[in-house]
Amino acid sequence: MENNILEIRQLRKFFGDKRALNDVTFSVERGSITGLLGPNGAGKTTLLRIINGIMVADAGEALINGREASLETTGLVGYMPEERGLYDKMRVEEQILYFGQLKGGDKRRLREVMGEYLELFNLSADRRRRVKELSKGNQQKVQIIATLVHEPELVILDEPFSGFDPINGALLQELIARLHDRGTTIMLSSHNMPAIEEMCSDIALIDHGNLLVKDSIENIKESNKDNTLILTTRTPLATEPLLATGIVTEIHPVKSLNWRKGHAYSLRKGDGHSNMDLLDAVAFQSDVIHFEEALPSLTDIFIRYTSRHPDTPAEVADDARHTANVTGNPDAAKESTNTPNE
Ligand code: ATP
Repeated sequence: MENNILEIRQLRKFFGDKRALNDVTFSVERGSITGLLGPNGAGKTTLLRIINGIMVADAGEALINGREASLETTGLVGYMPEERGLYDKMRVEEQILYFGQLKGGDKRRLREVMGEYLELFNLSADRRRRVKELSKGNQQKVQIIATLVHEPELVILDEPFSGFDPINGALLQELIARLHDRGTTIMLSSHNMPAIEEMCSDIALIDHGNLLVKDSIENIKESNKDNTLILTTRTPLATEPLLATGIVTEIHPVKSLNWRKGHAYSLRKGDGHSNMDLLDAVAFQSDVIHFEEALPSLTDIFIRYTSRHPDTPAEVADDARHTANVTGNPDAAKESTNTPNE
């Protein structure tokens, strides 16, 4: 069996003279959880519709298990679009079984899987109620179960967390983790960066129809490090002498880390200097209690990549870069790579 469940090759789609997808190429590894990210209007829904055989590309191909995406491959895929589509008057279990059978599921097996998911989502008691009698969040659960009940190899969920309270959001995360353990490949399209960051191994980021990056989150973060370190010292630092060394080019107190004993700072290192140079410069003033390299958050990465696009007005890009610099460092402090003296 091929390692990649999904191959997107040179995919292109126009609406009139508007290019919604511009020769997009990437692959999705079997068993991975991939986040599909991009600003509004980036082309995500268009891409997902083509993968699901709902829309036809103008050029290029989308292959699922090596077969061109079409209505014939839809049984392999479970796709929950952002705009939900349930039949109001149908009862919950009728609805789920109906969608499962449309995707070619066997009725007995569909009932078993439906029972498991209804229980996980605390919906067993509602199975004979009509969809319109359920709350919005419970309707969303029915939609998710209807998407998954035929046990697709590739599950694609568009904004699955929208409309869920934190408890139901956690149940959905548990369900996704269960699917992942069973080897299902999952794609999540969402603007909810913390959820994507927590759940996904990889991301594909598109903007203006172009693929900006597709890689593991780990690799992307590593290659977007910006010489920023977070450290805690026993006594406050005098900033002017540190900046005068040239080893430190920026220094900001980090209030969110004040629960730690000591004084926390985010420092940016000058080019050509090592972490040891910086530590030596700081140690000249105070004991270093804690020290770690900061990695950018997914939100920072999103802003950095999308603000580079030539269609983004310069002032918006500058604002975005500034926000990334300000927010990136303190928030990224959780991701420790080095903690001497602790
Ligand atoms: P969002 O995050 O807002 O859902 P998206 O990334 O899903 O956005 P798409 O819906 O794929 O973006 O749209 C990509 C571009 O193609 C947009 O400029 C959109 O206006 C355009 N577009 C999408 N569908 C159509 C259509 N049926 N007819 C004309 N233009 C379309």
